[in-house]
Amino acid sequence: MATSSVKIIRNKKDLRAQVREWHMADLKVGMVPTMGALHHGHLSLIREIQKHVDKVVVSIFVNPKQFGPNEDFDKYPRSETADIKKLDEVDTDLLYAPDVGEIYPEGFLTNVSVAKITEGLCAAKRPGHFDGVTTVVTKLLLQCLPDVALFGEKDFQQYTVLKQLANDLDIPTDVMCGKLIRDDDGLATSSRNVYLSPEERKTALEIPKTLKQAIEDIESGALSMEEALAKGTQHLLDSGCKEVQYLEIRQSDNLDPITTTIAETSPILARILVAAVVGKTRLIDNMPIKIFF
Ligand code: AMP
Repeated sequence: MATSSVKIIRNKKDLRAQVREWHMADLKVGMVPTMGALHHGHLSLIREIQKHVDKVVVSIFVNPKQFGPNEDFDKYPRSETADIKKLDEVDTDLLYAPDVGEIYPEGFLTNVSVAKITEGLCAAKRPGHFDGVTTVVTKLLLQCLPDVALFGEKDFQQYTVLKQLANDLDIPTDVMCGKLIRDDDGLATSSRNVYLSPEERKTALEIPKTLKQAIEDIESGALSMEEALAKGTQHLLDSGCKEVQYLEIRQSDNLDPITTTIAETSPILARILVAAVVGKTRLIDNMPIKIFF
């Protein structure tokens, strides 16, 4: 039986020693933090970061702190053996797979929190979620000390928050954004897509379609931002989404709301972002959009 060439490390001491050895050899190290159940969105991040660094560390850690009490922490898909095979296929150098005690040992008391960008959008319905993300990513980056870390455009608010975090805390890692990957039918690839029944998947496909339609309505000047967002929300509900948690347009670089007073140059490069619930599954998506004033 073929054995994996991915080195597996489960504690921070060995991780630090390996990365130190690579740095001593003048090798650049990249990190892709994940929660596992790897799919081609994750693999695309690994291929992308390989263009910038010599060695790639992928972490798999299902972080309890970023799940709310009624969320899917217990049933979140876990598939380490299959994940290792996929990591091997894209020539990952190292898998860091700590257990909960390694990340949050007994007596752990610290919370890392980024202000402002963590208000609204995903935070509105997931209180505490971003503190969980920023706390664990701070730990993962400090444990590994990679030169580059890559996060997916799929979680655009998360990427924006983490870029701010690394900058504010002088973490010596360049935080970069990797392209959003979609399944062939257009649905943003997600570990949570496995929860969808065929019928729910049909409904879920209306999410990217709605974003595209709103972009067309706004960029063509056919509808105002407000009109297009109201139309999109209604369409998602009519298509069978249980709830539209948000459908909003924000500035791309800092996620501030769009107001006419910011229109120094037109068009403004913005993002249209959505979170909707299909069946019991919460799905998110986003796309770039130009706003003309
Ligand atoms: P997760 O395992 O869902 O926490 O995701 C780990 C990383 O993969 C995050 O930076 C996500 O933004 C990224 N990611 C997840 N899905 C996709 C996707 N479809 N395209 C690009 N990146 C993704």
